[in-house]
Amino acid sequence: MSKDTQIAWTDHTFNIAWGCSKISPGCKNCYADTLSHRWGLDFWDEGKNRRTFGAKYWSEPLAWNVKAQADGVRQRVFCSSMCDVFEDHPTIDAEREKLWPLIRQTPWLDWQLLTKRAERIAENLPADWGSGYGNVWLGVSVESGDYEWRFNEHLAHIPCQVRFVSYEPALGPVTGLEWAKLGWIIYGGESGKGYRSDQTDWARHVKSRCAEFGVSFFYKQGAAFRPGTDPTLDGATIQEFPQSVALDFQQAA
Ligand code: SF4
Repeated sequence: MSKDTQIAWTDHTFNIAWGCSKISPGCKNCYADTLSHRWGLDFWDEGKNRRTFGAKYWSEPLAWNVKAQADGVRQRVFCSSMCDVFEDHPTIDAEREKLWPLIRQTPWLDWQLLTKRAERIAENLPADWGSGYGNVWLGVSVESGDYEWRFNEHLAHIPCQVRFVSYEPALGPVTGLEWAKLGWIIYGGESGKGYRSDQTDWARHVKSRCAEFGVSFFYKQGAAFRPGTDPTLDGATIQEFPQSVALDFQQAA
């Protein structure tokens, strides 16, 4: 499987834009914000512009789609790692409208759209969404029990091929999800400077609920400055939480 991203659970990343505004504790050490400022770019906060990309960048998924079809192997595309695809911002709104036709032109790509703006998903889906595009997975970030509402009150009621939750950075226990409506959950403790600790039991609990409800569980990492390099800092080991991604994601709307 080809990969052009460091993110373990996908094959490609595609950003409709760069820039965002922080809205919950999970945003505190936002990787995209840190990376942008390191490069001298400032696209963070509501009043700021967003960086957009040209036709060459927007054509890349078309090439991925051609290759995936030629190889007979579907590819996953995480959209967007450097912004929030459902943010209420004029530039993001405009770029998101360009995304839907691209998704329709790339049936060999499975688009993984992740957001913290769960309340904005339903009103911003395309008019022909129906019971969901066959190649779109919708996900929400749930960093602790305080944000289970993003899934339970919003995404759980939206028809789509696969509903997923990104439990990253894990900042508190998550116990009350509508597990039966969920297809996949990614667990990840925080990393980098100023990382916040997690607890092995949070991942252990989620894994057991996933087993109970037939939900795919992906253990990315425990919290640590550099996960996996210092077992005394890691909240858990890969051996304890092997990564697993079920292949059959067919899910009732
Ligand atoms: S929603 Fe995502 S991209 Fe936006 S500030 Fe928060 S963590 Fe960063």
